[in-house]
Amino acid sequence: MTDNESLRRLICEIGRRMYAKNLVAASDGNISVRLDEGQFLCTPSGVSKGFMQPTDLIVADGQGEKIGGTGKVTSEFPTHLACYEERPDIHAVVHAHPPHAIAFTLTGISLSEAVLPEVVAAFGGVPTSAYATPGTPEGNDVIRPLIRECDAAMLARHGSITVGRNVEEAYFKLEKLEHAAQTLYYARQLGALRTLSADQVDRCLAGRQAYGAIGPVYTADLYPDKTD
Ligand SMILES: [Zn+2]
Repeated sequence: MTDNESLRRLICEIGRRMYAKNLVAASDGNISVRLDEGQFLCTPSGVSKGFMQPTDLIVADGQGEKIGGTGKVTSEFPTHLACYEERPDIHAVVHAHPPHAIAFTLTGISLSEAVLPEVVAAFGGVPTSAYATPGTPEGNDVIRPLIRECDAAMLARHGSITVGRNVEEAYFKLEKLEHAAQTLYYARQLGALRTLSADQVDRCLAGRQAYGAIGPVYTADLYPDKTD
């Protein structure tokens, strides 16, 4: 793994990109990385992700208690811990408030249908959780069953959770998720969405290793095959 100092700088750089790309506003969102020995490096509560310094980051344990740093552990960190508990294979969690993707959850329009082949290949569909009040234990409960089955999910009326083997991977899934949601938003202005056929979905999934996708793929809504 990257040494701690360069990892801290990388997390700050990803925070700046999240803020610059409008994936978070003000002090929204949080990033964490699983270190060795059950410790986690994470962004502090109440600090803008666009203006973090490496020394702002804090170290927390597997119970969500701070063991290093000066800031406060974010109330959303237990949701990260729920992801790590469900997925021993991941080492990073990124939570953001991507506006197009959130807009879909406000209207109840699914992000889990098969429309963009590269998104299907990367993570299948993007499921949306049941509603939970942000920053409460409910948020941990609603994410658990979803994150077992996928690397990218939406918390209803709130934001995204993306996970990866490292923090760059988790961040790029966030970018991809919001880019897809923005594209679907534009498409819906032009007309009805046409989904991929079951055969086209099969071929996307068969080729997903070529996209570097190795996590689980969410397939629950990929096969309605409404149109070819
Ligand atoms: Zn949030």
